[in-house]
Amino acid sequence: MSDIESESINLTSDEEIIPYYIANKTTIAIQKKDYYKKNRDKILVKTKCECGRYISKNQMLRHQRTKVHQQYLELINREKSEKEVTFD
Ligand SMILES: [Zn+2]
Repeated sequence: MSDIESESINLTSDEEIIPYYIANKTTIAIQKKDYYKKNRDKILVKTKCECGRYISKNQMLRHQRTKVHQQYLELINREKSEKEVTFD
């Protein structure tokens, strides 16, 4: 029976190898951390949007599609067209 025992020990040691998805998960986490470290300044730097809000650069495109920003643009356009109509 010692043969079977040694076989099972071998199996156990095989299972100790980190499954691919766990290894992969760790790699992705490290890559994300690395990306954050390298781009920290870019990610955290906020620029003032024309609507007056401070938005981080990577959120800007998304922000420009938000209601808040769209409403601002509408307001500006309305003011513009009103100015164009009045004669001073
Ligand atoms: Zn905006």
